[in-house]
Amino acid sequence: MSSSTTSPSSIPYDAARQAQLTQQYDRVHAMIAAETPADRDVALLAVSKLKPASDIQILYDHGVRHFGENYVQELVEKAGLLPNDIHWHFIGALQTNKCKDLAKVPNLSTVETLDSLKKARKLNEARAKFQPDAPPISCDIQINTSHESQKAGLQDEAEVFATVEYLTDPANKHVALSGVMTIGSWDVSHLAPGEENRDFATLADWKRRIDAKYGTQLRMSMGMSADFKQAIKQGSSEVRIGTDIFGQRPPREQATI
Ligand SMILES: *Cc1c(COP(=O)(O)O)cnc(C)c1O
Repeated sequence: MSSSTTSPSSIPYDAARQAQLTQQYDRVHAMIAAETPADRDVALLAVSKLKPASDIQILYDHGVRHFGENYVQELVEKAGLLPNDIHWHFIGALQTNKCKDLAKVPNLSTVETLDSLKKARKLNEARAKFQPDAPPISCDIQINTSHESQKAGLQDEAEVFATVEYLTDPANKHVALSGVMTIGSWDVSHLAPGEENRDFATLADWKRRIDAKYGTQLRMSMGMSADFKQAIKQGSSEVRIGTDIFGQRPPREQATI
């Protein structure tokens, strides 16, 4: 990456935690592989929010390069401590006034929770200003498939299409459209195994409509620890797994980097 220098030195960790984490990661990875049809790829995003940088270093040394974080400040701090060939994914609630801090991280690869045209503009402008030589920020448009008021994400077709058009316009070269993303409702994610998840079906429908209208081939980020098998059945390109890899998270006020 042209705008970054050498990586910081490796963060120390203990052997017992290393054995545990690599085993859990391999187990999740194998379960995903077992659910994935031969003609598809499903990426595993390791969600490291509220977990220490030493945990990330362990999985980095195990070959993992994609990590998901929910809080801008935490992502910024971890990115400064950890190797600069990590691909950071932001998957938290995105505030307009934090877009700049995110865009400054040269190895921020993806914002999965882009939920407004205004924030797409902010990311593009900040990347152009602070990291003009870094790769464009891949953006997944977050869709509120469950129509719950407390969930972020777009629901309005005109705004989704306007955001697609902004992200695919070659003039806005510091951002790029990569896909669509959803969280879905908790109830729907805890259905009996094998039952179709209507939130995932709704996301797949958005993908089909956008691909048909714009000639894109969007990826779908859907599925977490509780519902990733069903998400893969319904076409997920990336599942985001935290707890099954790293274990329970501490409360935010007790988390340390
Ligand atoms: C925390 C989080 C995850 C991971 O959830 P787990 O249940 O721990 O696997 C995935 N996606 C998003 C958006 C999250 O905030």
